[in-house]
Amino acid sequence: QIKGTHLEHFRFYTSQMKIEAQHKIDMESAIRKGLMKGEFIPFYQAKVSCKTGGVVGMEALARWVKADGKIISPVDFIPLAEELNLIHEIDTRIITSAVRDMAEWEKAGHNELVVSANISATELEDPAFVDTIFSILEDNNVAKEKFELEVTESLIMKDVEKNAQILEKLCTSGINCSIDDFGTGYSSLSYLKKLPIKTLKIDRSFVNDIMTDHNDLAIVCAIISMARRMGLKVVAEGVEDADQVELLKKEGCDIIQGYYYSKPLSKKDFLDFINLKRDRAPMRN
Ligand code: C2E
Ligand code: MG
Ligand code: MG
Ligand code: MG
Repeated sequence: QIKGTHLEHFRFYTSQMKIEAQHKIDMESAIRKGLMKGEFIPFYQAKVSCKTGGVVGMEALARWVKADGKIISPVDFIPLAEELNLIHEIDTRIITSAVRDMAEWEKAGHNELVVSANISATELEDPAFVDTIFSILEDNNVAKEKFELEVTESLIMKDVEKNAQILEKLCTSGINCSIDDFGTGYSSLSYLKKLPIKTLKIDRSFVNDIMTDHNDLAIVCAIISMARRMGLKVVAEGVEDADQVELLKKEGCDIIQGYYYSKPLSKKDFLDFINLKRDRAPMRN
């Protein structure tokens, strides 16, 4: 009887594994085709200054836009693209498009913007990738100071010493580096001293409940005051309502990003959004 049970499990797992393996093969060829057809494009989510209320930058977030118009979220293809070694190519596309769009908007008079992009673990550790970013910026005449890399805390923690060196190279070049999803990486705070970063992005999970959960509120306030004392900028991500905005402003947060201001938008919609914001707030400095 025991044997039988094992056998059943064995059959179950093998057929399950077959399905998963087939799914991976299908996805791999779908991603490759999507890359060939230019279906991986950035959407842009505004970052708004607490001081001026103006848009100071935007985060490029990858979207897979299929031929039928269906939009696939990065959470549904990034992990697999990482596993299949296709993330490098996707991120290169996203960064190239984002920098090109940014150059276009700069020419149209939006010279206050800094564009940020997200990268995965293998890329930070690949010296060629850093050079790719430099040449994309040069090709488009975009200053390094206008570009920011968002690196998650857990990615940095994989090898703090090594990653600190890579970030140092990026920072001395003028590129901005920020720690994404800050607070979720189970790290000791001492490593912050070693990293040449300029910005902390407080993870959405802490921001979510600041109005109702006093522990989350305490964490957010502690991060803001620590960052300020260390001379770092603070971005709160995932801000969805006016009460949160007011509270974060009062606590001294520098920049807000979230559905309250805007969801990630297509290139065209984002341009409309920043034009509208600029026209409505002509007094901004
Ligand atoms: P992230 O970099 O932490 O980006 C923030 C995520 O929160 C985005 O999800 C954004 O759409 C979402 N978000 C922003 N504001 C709000 C809000 O007010 N409420 C809620 N509920 N959500 C909000 P998205 O676009 O699905 O991206 C998910 C993650 O995928 C990103 O997290 C990032 O880690 C990764 N990712 C996205 N684009 C790229 C890329 O081009 N390359 C790489 N390597 N990773 C990427
Ligand atoms: Mg990010
Ligand atoms: Mg984040
Ligand atoms: Mg995240």
